[in-house]
Amino acid sequence: MALIVQKFGGTSVANIEYLNNVADRILLARENGHQVVVVVSAMGKETDRLVELAKEAVTSSSTRRDLLRRETDVLLSTGEQVTIALLSMILINRGQKAKSYTGSQIRIVTDSSHTRARIQEIQTDKILHDLEGGSIVVVAGFQGADAEGNITTIGRGGSDTSAVALAAALDATECQIHTDVDGVYTTDPRMVEEARCLSRLTFEEMLELASLGSGVLAPRAVEFASKYNVPIRVLSSFNAEAPGTLIANESSQDKKPSQKSDRNSKEAGTMEQPLISGIAFSKDEAKLTVLGVRDVPGIASKILGPISDANIEVDMIVQNVAADMSTDFTCTVSRSDYEQAMEILTGVSKEIGAREVTGDNNIVKLSIVGVGMRSHAGVATRMFRALSDESINIQMISTSEIKISVVIEQKYLELAVRSLHTAFELEEN
Ligand code: ADP
Ligand code: ASP
Ligand code: MG
Repeated sequence: MALIVQKFGGTSVANIEYLNNVADRILLARENGHQVVVVVSAMGKETDRLVELAKEAVTSSSTRRDLLRRETDVLLSTGEQVTIALLSMILINRGQKAKSYTGSQIRIVTDSSHTRARIQEIQTDKILHDLEGGSIVVVAGFQGADAEGNITTIGRGGSDTSAVALAAALDATECQIHTDVDGVYTTDPRMVEEARCLSRLTFEEMLELASLGSGVLAPRAVEFASKYNVPIRVLSSFNAEAPGTLIANESSQDKKPSQKSDRNSKEAGTMEQPLISGIAFSKDEAKLTVLGVRDVPGIASKILGPISDANIEVDMIVQNVAADMSTDFTCTVSRSDYEQAMEILTGVSKEIGAREVTGDNNIVKLSIVGVGMRSHAGVATRMFRALSDESINIQMISTSEIKISVVIEQKYLELAVRSLHTAFELEEN
């Protein structure tokens, strides 16, 4: 008998019919002899609805944001609370023993950074006690409570992280993330029909894909899984036959496998390493350039210091080679920080005597990811050639050992993803 954590996302729990389908999946795992802890998201787009209600309620722009964040968490956490109660009722209605818990009831202890709290500790005694008694334990994702008992949420898409954190705390055999596609694909299957479902990925690759915009898993969930070596299996809520995608280290095959992981790990062992595993993209990007900056030591920190003081995260940074002792300095930030960053840099540019600041929030970041890149030269050339064949201009480039990212104009996104998918033969097995 294994202990598994099964997480079901918003679309998978959108109505009573779907919740009954979720119950089927849970009962299947039970029939296979497993103990099951279930983590659920809010139903459908409920969290978005609650966010909109909060916007309607707060009309004054001078209202203190820090005070509102605590109340936002009280509001947003209700979405998941509805799902846990309904799912437990459905399970009980089917003759099962089931018990629902909010994050604070379990004691998922977080820090006090409301709306983006970090999980510090999870108490497992109640869950283990209920499991021993034969219950299915249903836990609300996305939420916890700080040391003072204030309700917190852990960031949008955070139920993935709740599920993996619970799996780590309970030393579960695996964490199954059930969603509305069959697994992790070579790229978003809603954009590229030819995208192929991958049978296996390493934590490292999945972390890059998730951090670079593949919405299928929250990056922090993958971080947790890698840190505590919890295998993640991404599965479809709607297609019980699909084998899904296993995300694990090679060594995690030592862990007790469930029936499905057996099949996948054998397959992975014989597979040749592909050059790249997937393509990720992010529309949440904006670019700012300070033109005519004097090329002297300390200038980068003068430009970026005030940005980081305002808690704005900078992603890519490019400084051109100086001509005539003057250079241009470009960085990218999240689109939601664009206006504030522009205001700050306009002030900074006056102080340092730069010519002007220009900006563009019509850009996207496109990335290819794969551990196969380590041992193969020429990946970048192939990527740049495919984009140039479509006359797509590359505005910025950044690389790491297992990824290459480029910034391009947003209108070319779909064309670029499709052409790279073909150029790297990702549709082929
Ligand atoms: P959930 O509500 O279950 O958490 P999400 O909407 O957060 O579901 O994540 C699933 C979605 O992720 C899919 O519907 C798909 O459009 C998107 N997605 C983006 N990139 C990928 C990818 N590489 N593989 C699979 N799905 C992806
Ligand atoms: N309900 C939350 C959200 O929509 C958390 C989640 O679904 O993972 O962001
Ligand atoms: Mg999600």
